[in-house]
Amino acid sequence: LNPTNKHYSSEELDVEKKLRPLSFDDFAGQDQVLENLKIFVEAANLRGEALDHTLFHGPPGLGKTTLANILANELDVGIKITSGPVLDKPGDLAGLLTNLEERDVLFIDEIHRLSPIVEEYLYSAMEDFKIDIMIESGPNARTVQIHLNPFTLVGATTRSGLLTSPMRARFGIQSRLQYYNKELLATIIERSASILGVHIDLEAAIEIAGRSRGTPRIANALLRRVRDFAQIKGNGSIDIEISKYALNSLNVDSFGLDEMDNKILSTIIDKFKGGPVGLSTLATAVSENGETIEEVYEPYLIQEGFILRTPRGREATEKAYKHLGREKSNVQGG
Ligand code: ADP
Repeated sequence: LNPTNKHYSSEELDVEKKLRPLSFDDFAGQDQVLENLKIFVEAANLRGEALDHTLFHGPPGLGKTTLANILANELDVGIKITSGPVLDKPGDLAGLLTNLEERDVLFIDEIHRLSPIVEEYLYSAMEDFKIDIMIESGPNARTVQIHLNPFTLVGATTRSGLLTSPMRARFGIQSRLQYYNKELLATIIERSASILGVHIDLEAAIEIAGRSRGTPRIANALLRRVRDFAQIKGNGSIDIEISKYALNSLNVDSFGLDEMDNKILSTIIDKFKGGPVGLSTLATAVSENGETIEEVYEPYLIQEGFILRTPRGREATEKAYKHLGREKSNVQGG
């Protein structure tokens, strides 16, 4: 259930694809983002032009890849999908770019992880739809410039601050995705249940939603596990009892916090007397990369009021103490 874990089995990937909304109308939430995108797409369609390059940023599992696919559908064009770490050489990128048809979407996930050479190579492609290609080798080696079809680059990143500023500046459209509230997640769960062909009560959908860490990917994953319990231990249909039973058996926390979230909180409280503790010290203590803590874990913990970010570091709140069943001592350190 780790939202950062994209290394699914092929069966899970297939289910994820099946549950993916295909049009603006199927996509729940992110109203402001959607409202703007609809206008930009309609205008691009009207003019018969490629949509401006678009950047989506926000924590994993909130719908960036889904939106890239929806954009291609709504523009009625093809989409090619790749990711920053996969493109190690400009040659890999050139192959993709030269195969794009007019107005196609090129989606680059984790775009902040492009190598500097590949990134540089992308600049002229994005700006002028031109690239230089090296032909032949040895003494005959030379570069020729080739023209590309106008295309839309859709980039996704967990934090826009991780992109270099020249890269960021090349995106005409930039949208930030937010965590989803319980009601929206319940709607998403109901939709997914109907695609999976399983009946679910509203109350059960809300229960699962409340434990999904504000994240549709987690909501869908939990729904599938609860469905297993309903089929084996219940009558196949998902109600509140079987949901609670399943979620407890799965050890899902009442706020949907995962193991690392809880480890971060207990470390701040137990090892650092509740904080403040600096990011790098905290990262070392929980054996996780500082960037990942900042991009994946912290945003939700801050939004839900479990930790505070102060100039002196991260602090655990009263809510974090309560959640872990710890007493907050009134003696202030320092
Ligand atoms: P990201 O690219 O941000 O990591 P994805 O686009 O892969 O996230 O979304 C993860 C899963 O969550 C997808 O399978 C999709 O079905 C579901 N999902 C995300 N956003 C929504 C939404 N707004 N409505 C319905 N399902 C969604």
